Amino acid sequence: MERLRALRKWEAHVPEMPEVETIRRMLAPLVENAVLLRARTSGKPLRTPVPDFTPLCGLRLQRLARRGKWLLWHFANGQVLMQHLGMSGAWFPLAHAPPQHRHLELVWEDAALVYCDPRRFGMLVLTDARKAEARLATLGPEPLSVDEEALIARAGASRRALHTALLDERIVAGIGNIYANEACFRARLDPRTPCRMLARAHWRRLAQAIRATICDALAAGGTTIQSFLHPDGKPGYFAQQLAVYGRAGKPCLRCGTPVQRWRLGGRSVFACPRCQQAPARTASIVRPAKEEQGESAH
Ligand SMILES: [Zn+2]
Repeated sequence: MERLRALRKWEAHVPEMPEVETIRRMLAPLVENAVLLRARTSGKPLRTPVPDFTPLCGLRLQRLARRGKWLLWHFANGQVLMQHLGMSGAWFPLAHAPPQHRHLELVWEDAALVYCDPRRFGMLVLTDARKAEARLATLGPEPLSVDEEALIARAGASRRALHTALLDERIVAGIGNIYANEACFRARLDPRTPCRMLARAHWRRLAQAIRATICDALAAGGTTIQSFLHPDGKPGYFAQQLAVYGRAGKPCLRCGTPVQRWRLGGRSVFACPRCQQAPARTASIVRPAKEEQGESAH
C-alpha cells in the first residue's frame, strides 16, 4: 500500500528541467567515462519506438548533458541518445527500481540502471550530434540563464496568457506547469495576463523569479542526489515546498488569501488573487521592434 502510494505520488510529478537536471547529476558520476556493457528493452514502444541499443554496447559514454527537458547521452562514436522523460519517466538504480514499467535496463561498468515509465510518454531517439543540435535549435534559453531581454524578444508582443507563454519551450526551455505557476507567484504576476500587457520591469521580475524558482528546486533536488548514489537511498523525484501549485483553497504563503485555481489552455493555473494581479494598463508596454512592424502592417 505504502509502495503504491509512493508510486502514485511519483507519477503525479511530471519532470521539468529541475527534475531532469537532478537526474542528470545523479547519473553522471555513474555513467560518464564508463563503458555500456549490456542493454535490455521491454519491447514496448514509448511515445515513439525504442531504438536498437546493440550498436551502443561496448562504447564509452563521453558525457551526459542536458538541454531543456532532454537528457543527451553522448557516446564516444559521436552518437547521441536523446531522452525525454515525458510525463512519468525516471531512472533508478537496479536494486531500487519498481518492479513494473521497466522499459530500459542499462548495465555499465560499475552501475546498473533501470528506466521506468508507467505512462510511456517518454522518448528515446538515437541520432548524431549534428542532428541532435538541429532538433534542439528551436528551444529558448535555459531557465537559469533567462533574462528580460530574451523574454521580451520572444513573448513581449504576444496576446497569449503569461502562463501559456511560459509553457512554450521556444520562449524558455524546460518549464512545465508546476514551475510556470510558481514563477508567476514569485513574480507577483497574474498568470492569465496577456504577455503584451507587461512592462519591462515586469519581465525583469519574471526572469528573476524563473531563475530563483529553478534554483530552489535544484537545491531541493540536491538532497535526492546523495540518497540516489547511496545504496539504501530512496530514488524518484524530490518533494519540495510549492507556494501555489496544487494548493487551491489553501492560504497563500505570503498573505493568507485562499489560492485560486482556474483552467487555462487545458491546464490548471494556481494563483493568489491578492498577491498576483494583472498590471495596470497604463504601464509602459515593451514590444520588440520587429513584431511592431509586423503588427502595423495589418
Ligand atoms: Zn497572497
